[in-house]
Amino acid sequence: MFKFTRHVSTLATPPSQPIPGTSQVPNSAGGYTWSVDDWARLDRFLVLGSEGGSYYIAERALTLEGAQAVLRCLAVDGARVVARTAEVSEAGRAPKNDPAIFVLAMAAKLGDEATRKAAYAALPRVCRIGTHLMHFAEYAQGFGGWGRGMRKAVASWFNARSADELALQLVKYQARDGWSTRDLLRLAHPRAASPSHDRLFAWVTSGALPAGAAADPALALLVAKDALTRITSPREAANVIRTHRVPREAVPTELLAHAEVWEALLADLPVTAMIRNLATMTRVGLLAPGADATRTVVARLGDNARLARARVHPVAVLAALLTYESGRGARGSGTWTPVGPILDALDGAFYATFGGVEPSGTRTLLALDVSGSMSWGSIAGVPGLTPRVGSAAMALVTAATERDHTLVGFSTELTPLAISPRQRLGDAVAAIDRLPMGGTDCALPMQWAQRNQVDVDTFVVYTDNETWAGSVHPAQALRAYRQARGIPARLIVVGMTSNGFSIADPDDAGMLDVVGFDTATPPVISDFARA
Ligand code: CA
Repeated sequence: MFKFTRHVSTLATPPSQPIPGTSQVPNSAGGYTWSVDDWARLDRFLVLGSEGGSYYIAERALTLEGAQAVLRCLAVDGARVVARTAEVSEAGRAPKNDPAIFVLAMAAKLGDEATRKAAYAALPRVCRIGTHLMHFAEYAQGFGGWGRGMRKAVASWFNARSADELALQLVKYQARDGWSTRDLLRLAHPRAASPSHDRLFAWVTSGALPAGAAADPALALLVAKDALTRITSPREAANVIRTHRVPREAVPTELLAHAEVWEALLADLPVTAMIRNLATMTRVGLLAPGADATRTVVARLGDNARLARARVHPVAVLAALLTYESGRGARGSGTWTPVGPILDALDGAFYATFGGVEPSGTRTLLALDVSGSMSWGSIAGVPGLTPRVGSAAMALVTAATERDHTLVGFSTELTPLAISPRQRLGDAVAAIDRLPMGGTDCALPMQWAQRNQVDVDTFVVYTDNETWAGSVHPAQALRAYRQARGIPARLIVVGMTSNGFSIADPDDAGMLDVVGFDTATPPVISDFARA
């Protein structure tokens, strides 16, 4: 008998060929996978962006592909694009807000009439601070000039907030990435909502304190900022900062070298800024073992409600943790001795920023793709945060909630991983970073469990979906596992780059695609596993 099925079978097909009868497409690595639909691609783009590209796709091409998917979504249902964008942005689900701002700019400039309206209406929800608005202006510029809708929306961004709140925004964010609030005001040309707004606009456009500034309480912050430029004594500066709650951005750089000044700033420092400035505050001597300021910082990092209110993203915590722990600045900003309790508090904050996840209670295999391609590029442009390091951190979040879990790493071989959520996060990801790299065979976790008779209800695979090596497709390996062990096992694929591929079979209800480093992902994993 000629064994036709040795060459063509729907049960066992090498990943270098498509499974016969399916809609599989070639991925970038020479293998075949399914492509995710445009809405899933939109989600990946909103959460992961395209900054830095991936191992296979340059930044430019990845951005273009993402933007084309957004365009197709806009053509089908512009209102849905805007709603999704505002939802992801407002919930703080993405490490960076820029992809959401970019998609909103596309909707505002390229959508139909109703979509444009919806996009401008959503502007204050997505662009919450001055920097966001300047980025919106930059992105929108790429799709056309300043129309009436744009002018109106930007003008109302300035006028809709109280004069006090506007003063804080103007003082904090004067200029970013080639744009200034002066540019925005000149182009939007708003009619001031109140005399205080009028004075604030005058300060922005002229750069000098307007007449009547001293008598207007809404301008007190501007007056304080102005006074700080003439103060050299750290004690005096600290007094001004305390009295007028001056933000860090309004304090001259020379003053930021003093512990006393930072102590005054810390009183009102937003938690994201606090996390970003831990190294500086340690270097100037404010944060030291046993110091009051250290206790303040540790308490704030342990305050889950505060972290949630400030939309602190786990990636921001992880990035701060990796930098702070190293004791050395990335851009030559000196050295410091990390304070132990702060490291522990950052560790706790990382898990807390994912919110409470209810365990599914299922037998869970957490499988990390540690192939070469996962070590390239960075998540959300964070130096050193490769998809590989990122997936280790993500896997530990689920490991921390699921009691019955096993952690493995695979490339073209599979090895059990000796990392645990009880260990320091920095140590755990460093251990993953040191593993040898190789090709990619995403079927290995299921094949390994079958061969070693390991009972698994939920396979969670963290990967860029660029699989190509091995003897069968991951979806086929899962079906073989189900049959061999008599367990209706599920597969959750956590996509760690914003490409358009997935190893999950869209026609199999037991397989699911989710987006890596979406704060909504751990609860989705748990829900799907439990259902
Ligand atoms: Ca790979």
